[in-house]
Amino acid sequence: MNWLKTWLNWLKKTAYNRIVYATALWRRGLRLQASLFKNFPRGVVSRDRRSLFNIKKGARLIQRSCLLLFLLSLSIPAYSLRIVVMPDTLKPGYPLSIAVEGANGQGLVAKLATAAQGIVGEARLFDIQPREFAQGNLVKAAILAAPSTMKSGTATIRIENDHGLLGEVAVTIMERDFVSEVIFLDERNTEIRSVPSRKKTEEAQWLWAILARTDDSFYAEGMSFSRPVASTRRTSFFGDRRVYRYSGGGSDTAIHAGVDYGVPTGTPVYACAPGRVVLSAFREATGESIVVEHLPGVYSLYYHLSRRDVEEGAFVTRGGMLGESGMTGLATGPHLHWEVRIAGENVDPDVCILKPIFDKDSLLQRLRD
Ligand SMILES: [Zn+2]
Repeated sequence: MNWLKTWLNWLKKTAYNRIVYATALWRRGLRLQASLFKNFPRGVVSRDRRSLFNIKKGARLIQRSCLLLFLLSLSIPAYSLRIVVMPDTLKPGYPLSIAVEGANGQGLVAKLATAAQGIVGEARLFDIQPREFAQGNLVKAAILAAPSTMKSGTATIRIENDHGLLGEVAVTIMERDFVSEVIFLDERNTEIRSVPSRKKTEEAQWLWAILARTDDSFYAEGMSFSRPVASTRRTSFFGDRRVYRYSGGGSDTAIHAGVDYGVPTGTPVYACAPGRVVLSAFREATGESIVVEHLPGVYSLYYHLSRRDVEEGAFVTRGGMLGESGMTGLATGPHLHWEVRIAGENVDPDVCILKPIFDKDSLLQRLRD
């Protein structure tokens, strides 16, 4: 049924295509009518001589069917969608950006999905309206992340609105290995880790409410992140598969959401990119914590600080001082836990240092090519 799909896609693409198709059908109907009247002016008797096939009625039926088909095709929404994704091959924990030309409707979202795992990421589309595309073709974009738990293989980026799927493209997810580690917790850390509290739940909900937000703010566009501390000494990496062993026995597992820099208490901590401080507070699990917003749905997080120098609402530059590192909250030693979140999902901060998360110029160039 591939030809049918191709044909339907062609028909759906523009209203012009439908008019061309309907006109061709109409002409064929007229021609058929004329030829039938010429050859059988009084109709034709069917082979078993029992029923009479009325030519005039038949021709009218053909024309009516053409008209009906044309009207039906009008009820299918027209679209002419172009989607580009960067990069087109990625690994678990990598960010990806998407630009879409010609997507309309309410509730526009980009979804990352695989056949085996279903939808693993979802982000709202936001406007990027450059002057070059001003002729009625709105360009929208989304920033997504491939979760560290994503399996290798082919995934799809689906562009949807409230009415359903508008278009999709394939991306390749490559294999990636992660480190396994065991962390022994003392009594204090065991309590932070394993004993639930109303405050911890509230703090988690509050953070989630911030991270799930997609404001149309651009602070770090076309810019790679820089390291939040001068040191390059890491004690844990992104995606480490962790086992936490409790002081009194028992354990649980987790995936490390960021990078740990093993730096002494009092080490200056800098903003990795320009942005707006959206959280600056003490949290039970993560201690003195700061969250900075950089792009729509893109946040960097700094945990276990000994001192916070910025307040919520403050604007910071890349390399701007945020505070000093420490070991507040759940920490087995002084370190900075640095995390980057995209559309709520953790990404590898080291990858964000190598390349800009969102490079508008390159995306638009790809759309033009
Ligand atoms: Zn950490």
